[in-house]
Amino acid sequence: MNAVEVKDLRVSYFGNEALKKVDFTISEGTLVGIIGPNGAGKSTLLKAILNLIPKDSGEINILGSTLKEVRKRIAYVPQRSAIDWDFPIRVKETVLIGTYPSISLLKKPGRKEKELALKCLEKVDMLEFQDRQIGELSGGQQQRVFLARALAQQTDLFLLDEPFVGIDVASEEVIVRILKELRDEGKTIIVVHHDLSKAEKYFDELLLLNKELISSGDVKEVFTPRNIAKAYGGQLSFLEEMVMTT
Ligand code: ADP
Ligand code: MG
Repeated sequence: MNAVEVKDLRVSYFGNEALKKVDFTISEGTLVGIIGPNGAGKSTLLKAILNLIPKDSGEINILGSTLKEVRKRIAYVPQRSAIDWDFPIRVKETVLIGTYPSISLLKKPGRKEKELALKCLEKVDMLEFQDRQIGELSGGQQQRVFLARALAQQTDLFLLDEPFVGIDVASEEVIVRILKELRDEGKTIIVVHHDLSKAEKYFDELLLLNKELISSGDVKEVFTPRNIAKAYGGQLSFLEEMVMTT
């Protein structure tokens, strides 16, 4: 089954087109990278999938249904810059929020939820930091905590916006390992990423985006010098390296 189907998606901000006629499908159980330069509309695409911003046109199906029906089966980690890291909340509560079964905050989390939250923290190797304020953590530690929160949601679809920005190598390795494990369990993971050098290693499939969809599908088919030049234009020394080494 398809995890995500996007047909003729168009989004604009105040008359400026951010996404033009974007069409793609993503199968369940795939680890997908959304790749493209700054301002390409990568974050906009995730927000449109989540209906956080209005679209000009287009049809989006998620997990065989509408967003409304499946919202609880989707976890979303926004871009770092969109998160208020000074918000006074401890690590373990941040993760516990992920276990809330519904929007209703009236029901207090019980022992089962607390155990799940700690299990997810352990998975990202952050158990010993459970009583820290999130603002006291390094970038990589913060990103791991937000991944733990997404894990605590126990969803089928994960949308992560630039999870590798501003983090250390060890955290990046932990996150990549967990994303691959989720994929092996049949979950679908969509990751916005702008570092081309790791794209081939990390993902099964890519969506190469620059307002329009340049190419999508298996990494080998999408990740070609021609497609990358199309997406990144002239702004790329990486491309020269790639042409020289292939
Ligand atoms: P990316 O995540 O690929 O860097 P974005 O989706 O954030 O790109 O942005 C795509 C384009 O839309 C950019 O030109 C950006 O300036 C513009 N944009 C994004 N969010 C807004 C907004 N809230 N208001 C106006 N313009 C926006
Ligand atoms: Mg972005």
